[in-house]
Amino acid sequence: MAEELDRVAPVIDELGRRFADAGHELALVGGPVRDAMLGRHHNDLDFTTSARPEETERLLKAWAGSTWDMGRAFGTIGCRRGEWQVEVTTYRSEHYDPDSRKPSVDFGDTLEGDLGRRDFTVNAMAVRLPGREVEDPYGGVVDLAHRVLRTPGRPEDSFSDDPLRMMRAARFAAQLGFTVDEGVRRAMTEMAGRISIISAERVRDELVKLVCAPYPRLGLTLLVETGLAELVLPELPALKLERDEHHRHKDVYEHTLTVLEQAIDLEHRLGGAPDFVSRFAALMHDVGKPRTRRFLDDGSVTFHHHDVVGAKITRKRMKALRFSNDETDAVCRLVELHLRFHGYGSGEWTDSAVRRYVRDAGDQLERLHVLTRADCTTRNQRKASRLARTYDELEERIDRLSEEEELAAIRPDLDGNAIMEILGIGPGREVGQAYQHLLELRMDRGPMSPEDAREALLAWWHER
Ligand code: ATP
Ligand code: MG
Repeated sequence: MAEELDRVAPVIDELGRRFADAGHELALVGGPVRDAMLGRHHNDLDFTTSARPEETERLLKAWAGSTWDMGRAFGTIGCRRGEWQVEVTTYRSEHYDPDSRKPSVDFGDTLEGDLGRRDFTVNAMAVRLPGREVEDPYGGVVDLAHRVLRTPGRPEDSFSDDPLRMMRAARFAAQLGFTVDEGVRRAMTEMAGRISIISAERVRDELVKLVCAPYPRLGLTLLVETGLAELVLPELPALKLERDEHHRHKDVYEHTLTVLEQAIDLEHRLGGAPDFVSRFAALMHDVGKPRTRRFLDDGSVTFHHHDVVGAKITRKRMKALRFSNDETDAVCRLVELHLRFHGYGSGEWTDSAVRRYVRDAGDQLERLHVLTRADCTTRNQRKASRLARTYDELEERIDRLSEEEELAAIRPDLDGNAIMEILGIGPGREVGQAYQHLLELRMDRGPMSPEDAREALLAWWHER
């Protein structure tokens, strides 16, 4: 703790003195205090103060040069100096209107009052500055030691004040690897429905943090067990298909959580940082299964087209959660393509099929490699390593073809102008058809010389 405070000393000592000299209280609070006690770095420094926002703004401006307003109504002023991102919020004592999305804020006068309205005890600790006295009125240190999330007051009151805190419980469980207190779990289960008053954007932001955390399984399991998932991501609990008595297929829900973890283990291929698109695609890849499951007379089970159906379901969910079009397109493309490799057999694809795989994956190719490899949860070691080897081979073929042909930028060998010139026609539908035909040829055969392309074009034209 002391070590981490020494690391941030250039900021906290300096700011503490300036606020004290101006007659105000200032304390480091929330995430940075919690993480300092866990011995972790935290570069966003959150403070709470008795100063009113105008006064905070004046003091921060003198220290950092410029500030920004995070919403003066909420009393938060931000600034940056060097590597440090600083946010200072005026003490609050809040009253929530139980049916409104937005807390109505009253500024408070005491640190203890401010801490009492925070979400969890481990986030309700502060270090007064400049003296560095620790304030922990709700037993946050003990809860940190037990690795448990508890609310400072009754969880029912806390979640009634701000239902988003239920999502935050799952998010912190996933980030910190903590469990939630029994009372918190009970309140989440009873009050799950209240999440509906929170905007989709705020729910989404917590979900993204949860999915990108080190232990997403913990957070997701909590959402499913309390019934919150039923409201924010119903596709996930829907994967808990009732098992038919013959156990003709694996448990899709368990499989999905394992695929997510295996995709995380492969993230070094994507640069190493948590990759939301890859993780969310892993989570959603089989959501088409419940709707496409058929039991055949011969005792087998099928999920025909669950890839296409799954992509549609995923698109709908991501739209409802207000994800950007780019993120939605990327995830849906992965869901739609996650099965394609299973047609590869033991290497039966033609070069043309490999080219199509690359073209259809587009800029998601590396993530598709990750997802497809992660999507193997068989306990049969021989089968698993056979699949991995076959995928190695496919990647080698892609590399070879790419080198030869710059696969990613596949275009037909003639452009529109050349087509019009060779055929002696003007712009119109036929040019598009000719272009498409040449693109297909290009896919099937690889690159052609200009003469061959010209010949092929004329042959097609005369055959029409
Ligand atoms: P990180 O910044 O890593 O996401 P954090 O703990 O700093 O984690 P923030 O969301 O930045 O979390 O919030 C800062 C602090 O403000 C929290 O530690 C908590 O004390 C308080 N807080 C934030 N949101 C709420 C909320 N909805 N209800 C109660 N307290 C909250
Ligand atoms: Mg923070």
